[in-house]
Amino acid sequence: MKIFDKIENIRNVGKKTLEKLRMMHIQTLEDLITHFPRDYEDRTEINTISQLIDGESCTFKASIASIPINTKFKAKVITNVEVSDDTGEAEVTWFNQPYIQKVLKPGVEYIFVGKVRRAFGKLRVESPKYELANKSELMIAGRIVPMYPLTYGMSQHNLQKIIKNALEKLSGTLIDIFTEKVRDKYNLAEYNYAIKNIHFPYNDEAYNKAKRRLIFEELFIVQAALLYIKDKLKNDIKGIKFSIPSDIDSLEKALPFELTGAQKRVVDEIKIDMQTEKIMNRLVQGDVGSGKTVIALMAMYICVKNNYQVAMMAPTEILAVQHYEFLTKYLERLDIKTGLLVGSLTKKQKEDMYDKLKNGQIDVIIGTHAIIQESLEFNNLGLVITDEQHRFGVDQRLKLTDKGENPDIIVMTATPIPRTLGLILYGDLDISIIDELPKGRQKIDTHHVNSSYKERMYNFVKEQIEQRRQVYVVCPMVLENEEMSELESVITYTENLNKTHLGKYKIEYIHGKMKAKEKNDIMTRFKNNEINILVSTTVIEVGISVDNATMMIIENAERFGLAQLHQLRGRVGRGLHKSYCILVTDAKGKIIRERMNVMKNTNDGFIIAEKDLELRGTGDFFGTKQHGLPEFKIANLYEHTDILKESQQAAREMIEMDKCLSNEENKNIKEKIENIIRYIAL
Ligand code: ADP
Ligand code: MG
Repeated sequence: MKIFDKIENIRNVGKKTLEKLRMMHIQTLEDLITHFPRDYEDRTEINTISQLIDGESCTFKASIASIPINTKFKAKVITNVEVSDDTGEAEVTWFNQPYIQKVLKPGVEYIFVGKVRRAFGKLRVESPKYELANKSELMIAGRIVPMYPLTYGMSQHNLQKIIKNALEKLSGTLIDIFTEKVRDKYNLAEYNYAIKNIHFPYNDEAYNKAKRRLIFEELFIVQAALLYIKDKLKNDIKGIKFSIPSDIDSLEKALPFELTGAQKRVVDEIKIDMQTEKIMNRLVQGDVGSGKTVIALMAMYICVKNNYQVAMMAPTEILAVQHYEFLTKYLERLDIKTGLLVGSLTKKQKEDMYDKLKNGQIDVIIGTHAIIQESLEFNNLGLVITDEQHRFGVDQRLKLTDKGENPDIIVMTATPIPRTLGLILYGDLDISIIDELPKGRQKIDTHHVNSSYKERMYNFVKEQIEQRRQVYVVCPMVLENEEMSELESVITYTENLNKTHLGKYKIEYIHGKMKAKEKNDIMTRFKNNEINILVSTTVIEVGISVDNATMMIIENAERFGLAQLHQLRGRVGRGLHKSYCILVTDAKGKIIRERMNVMKNTNDGFIIAEKDLELRGTGDFFGTKQHGLPEFKIANLYEHTDILKESQQAAREMIEMDKCLSNEENKNIKEKIENIIRYIAL
């Protein structure tokens, strides 16, 4: 059996199980053996009946001492049996598993794992797991037993068995991507050993070694991938040497506001980059509303005045249109020709745009993925800007830069990366940070409430609308309840809202599955204040700017990560008016309360990102795809900073020795890297 084999061929995997595993994104043996336990139960000790403790979960060995009996009680089938050993006896009960009656054989010894209670002087065990005691290797006891993350009705016991079978089949055949030399140097366990012991640890020490090794590998691969890309992007190729137009200050003066100190600093950093021969690869990171678009404007101006073209790419059509409108206002005044290229244009319009780009009639093109179409050619592309870049894969960015002669690159993001991690994560980019908001921005008043406040909340909505302000409602992504899609939840919410006293206002909804044109229409009408309340999925998450919107209601706020909540909240508070964000959640729990409090107490994206990391761990943090990194299965950047540093060093050493990863000994590492590059979006 090979690691990339499908899981159909392992024992215990029937059609139904297969389907459940597929839902859990487990399709190959590799997926299976890297589905790591979330916890373990130490069942190394097997007790006698006299050792059982009231109220505790216990593992014990006993023989079946009576014939199992099924009785019906209300709608339930109850199976009862007496068990005993030399030290005493107990009664064992199961519910609605009538087949157990036939499975358990009187006189035979079993291992039981379950919670013990003493009632009416008798020891009782309810619904224990059980297993024949005379097996050569026990599954549920006599060892440390893995507890896996489960979903879709998969049972713990079943998954344990499946993984154990898979491990047995693969035993000793797994390829270690690290050479012995590297393993020695960094004190890493061998891979087969690590995989076996992460699932079924022999003891604590073995577990710790296994864990360290797997975390190291996971962090190593991401960092090696980043370094590998960086090298691919940079090489020694020369870029364009721009000169700074003498009238750049007049452009700055023509703006209706003065640039903030942070904006000025970032513009200066960009100017320096653009004047050198080196290809600029700069990440501009600034919280929502920090004013990244004008920075793009300044860079565009420099580029066009040097007779090069600019391409700016946004992740959605709505955003592309918004940028186009904002930028064109300034650029056309300066006699710079702009164009918009989005999916919803007609074929004819697109071809027309292609022509103009090819023969240089357009200086600045703004658009969506449509810009990376094969057939699109530029006259002389000099600068590529991507906005909210985490939606673009590295390969897409490369495609765009391939359309010019080594154009400079600016990527803009509002996703706050904790400072401590930025350097590591964005290994291939220089970073500029806009850490200051324009003057006069007011803090967005944030509250968290449960749904019993709906009445009061809607009254508040009414007040806002009466003052001519506008309101967003973001509906949850529906994950658990697959009956109802994200789309339906938005529609249902809108219907219900229409039944309240708010029904007299203009309420519309918008979601990701709508046609781009429909979405644009709705956004335009919202911008023109023809819609009072916009019910939405997270499509409004990035970048949308409607200054008159002052209230953001987020339903089922517990479903969103902090970083995402912050992004969503950033849709309000963009204008002069006092703005509000209401987080609605009925979920309870300490962490949720803490998260809501973080939102309430700060508007600073960086602080929020740090907290997010602290409260959720990076698994989840990156799982949201906010940060464009693949999801970590075992590593946690917050906890494992030491291993992170070591693995970074190892990655550096490797890339220094073998830039292209063409050495035989790095073959398997290269394969892994190329596999994940697709998922890294920087
Ligand atoms: P983001 O960084 O979220 O992309 P935008 O570029 O959309 O932010 O800017 C948000 C709003 O702030 C826009 O309306 C923009 O015109 C305005 N703005 C940008 N810079 C300044 C500034 N220095 N002073 C005042 N307003 C500014
Ligand atoms: Mg923006």
